[in-house]
Amino acid sequence: MCTKHYCHIVPPYILEALAKRGNSSCKKALNDSQRFLERRRTVLNNLMVREFEDGNGDRFIYDSQNKNEQRVALVRQEGDDPTQDETANKAYETSGFVRDYFKDTFGLDSIDGNGLDVISNIHYGQAYNNAFWDGDEMTYGDGDGEEFTNFASAIDVVAHELAHGVTQFLSNLEYQSQPGALNEHFSDVFGTIIKQKYLKQNISEADWLIGDSIVTEAFPGVALRSMKAPGTANEFDSQPDNMADYYTGMSDNQGVHINSGIPNKAFYLSCLEIGIDDCGLIWFETLKALFRTADFNDMLDTILRVAQELTIAGKVSDSSVDAITHSFAEVGLTQVMV
Ligand SMILES: [Zn+2]
Repeated sequence: MCTKHYCHIVPPYILEALAKRGNSSCKKALNDSQRFLERRRTVLNNLMVREFEDGNGDRFIYDSQNKNEQRVALVRQEGDDPTQDETANKAYETSGFVRDYFKDTFGLDSIDGNGLDVISNIHYGQAYNNAFWDGDEMTYGDGDGEEFTNFASAIDVVAHELAHGVTQFLSNLEYQSQPGALNEHFSDVFGTIIKQKYLKQNISEADWLIGDSIVTEAFPGVALRSMKAPGTANEFDSQPDNMADYYTGMSDNQGVHINSGIPNKAFYLSCLEIGIDDCGLIWFETLKALFRTADFNDMLDTILRVAQELTIAGKVSDSSVDAITHSFAEVGLTQVMV
């Protein structure tokens, strides 16, 4: 049992900034997101915790037919031939790739480790500028074509959102302040790893961007975020890459999409030293070992312990502990000795 999480790929401050410039679809997405969040909160208040139904990790693709509703019409399920709708086929392919990555790499049986069916809703709303995981399924808009497009086709977006599901079931990090920034961080970590695997890129070929393929030419930037250079992906990107610039404001659930830039940069630096596969295993095992209220210091303590254990077990490079220590020190995080 665990509490349900809710996360959108496009952060509220980007939608707000675009809405202020007159993009009505961004304003609509923002309003709809808030309405949806309120509705989910009501459901949560009623349920608080619920049992999730185990399945076979099968994919189900539903077409919302441009309504603001989920599970309207089932258009493709596990094993079915491709449909006429390319968005449905893409959602089927990308969600399967993410599910299989976690299974093949870490032995995780679907998103919850218990064969949860992987449900995707496509064509949600009219020109809806977002995609979200709401606790047990995925939902994708088509984008307005002005600023955003193709949410269900973007492997990093799909992986980022499904990784929120993995986090929900493995450590249940709460979605605010530092635990929330870690929650966002882990989604960017697996979003970028899975994107590199999907595109068959090595770490020097990769762009380390999140959401580059969902933004149009008109969008004022190249992506939503950059793990290599936090704060540079677009005009509104205020992600810090060091604790010296830590965001202390209240917006964005106390900066969950903002302060995630700090551990994101540490992940990027660690990958340069020990590679993405060793980092993937270390980060995955760390996620399993974390807990709901874990902050950045807990993350560092845990990841160093996990890296040491995996090194002793011969599963990762001997230099893993040093690499992670350097990388976190580079972003202003060092272990607090008590
Ligand atoms: Zn997210």
